[in-house]
Amino acid sequence: MTRTLAALPGAARRLCLSRRNGEICTREDGHRGLHHRTGGRLLWNDLQADPPECAAAGTPADPAPTLDDGFPGGRAVCPVCWAFVALTGEGALAPHDSWRGDESRHEADRRRAWFNAFGW
Ligand SMILES: [Zn+2]
Ligand SMILES: [Zn+2]
Repeated sequence: MTRTLAALPGAARRLCLSRRNGEICTREDGHRGLHHRTGGRLLWNDLQADPPECAAAGTPADPAPTLDDGFPGGRAVCPVCWAFVALTGEGALAPHDSWRGDESRHEADRRRAWFNAFGW
């Protein structure tokens, strides 16, 4: 389910995307009450939600394959949150916030193209 959401950045931007133990909230952005993933059993509040920093920082990773225009520019795909993440000089994932939707329409489009091309 998390993978499916990550592949749909346009849709995901309208979702809450609070995270808890690998679950991701699929209620609308700015909703009231507890976070909840459609079809999931877990309910959580803001205090229980995972911190924005992704726990995968420091994990060894290889740069992702690139599209014709070079996207994602030498970044690696985080195996935990599916963000494109810069690598440190040691070939590990740099500290980053868990993916919660793309910052721009362009990034969202490239991200979708990348996942269509390379999948998982
Ligand atoms: Zn939520
Ligand atoms: Zn991550």
